[in-house]
Amino acid sequence: DTTWRAVAREVALEPRRIIVTFEDITAVEEAGQIRRDFVANVSHELRTPLTALLGFLETLQGPARDDPAARDRFLGIAAREARRMARLVDDLLSLSRVEAEERRRPTGRVDLAGLAASVAAALEPLASRSGCVLRLDLPGGETWVPGDPGQLRQVLTNLLENAIKYGGPDGIVEVALSSPEPQPGLRRLGVRLSVTDRGPGIAAHHVPRLTERFYRVDTHRSREVGGTGLGLAIVKHIVSRHRGRLRIESEIGKGSRFSVVLPVE
Ligand code: ADP
Repeated sequence: DTTWRAVAREVALEPRRIIVTFEDITAVEEAGQIRRDFVANVSHELRTPLTALLGFLETLQGPARDDPAARDRFLGIAAREARRMARLVDDLLSLSRVEAEERRRPTGRVDLAGLAASVAAALEPLASRSGCVLRLDLPGGETWVPGDPGQLRQVLTNLLENAIKYGGPDGIVEVALSSPEPQPGLRRLGVRLSVTDRGPGIAAHHVPRLTERFYRVDTHRSREVGGTGLGLAIVKHIVSRHRGRLRIESEIGKGSRFSVVLPVE
């Protein structure tokens, strides 16, 4: 499936002769298609909460105006839809920043053990609200990797939030960090940071597509838990910038494990 562009040029000094050259523009066409799909997706994702928001505002101006209970309920829903839009815009900005920086190596360094403990502590309230128990399995001491502290925090936050949100109620979620050891596909020693849940698991045919922008296994569930469909796309770009690997293992009925392997210093 190759797309060609024909370009005709008159031969200088010989007005009746024309040279036609053919250029392979498959990659250009594909990039254009990806961009058009992305814009269509973003518009749709923003339109959905916006339509709901406008509907509730109209109800507030009309039928619900003199009914305090209905007014409170609709205001609550309108605020939720507005928050959804704000989250989407934040995630779009993160994604575009991460993509722009992808070719530049991160210059900082991060202690993954400290990061794991700190992210787990920050998400403890979300976990307990969801009836979920967080367990940490970290090696004693610090584990330093070259990396961008903010971006690696975002990776772990996204993975852990997903495990809590999709891991099913009364779940146990484990964050584990291995000791530095040889890793397949890495030239240097690497560490593996993994987030394991005992949720419903993900069918095998979805797994390779999870890091696509806006790809969701269950759109309804994703919206219900406040997902934007961009979390794993952001994770993929950050991990790739850090010359790491993202591995997803999942079994229906048993749970999922998302692991990030990063080269150590
Ligand atoms: P979202 O914002 O929808 O959570 P993500 O990119 O983070 O977007 O994840 C994409 C989809 O992958 C989710 O909508 C969900 O269907 C699925 N998913 C992610 N993590 C898990 C998990 N731990 N267990 C089951 N499904 C998951």
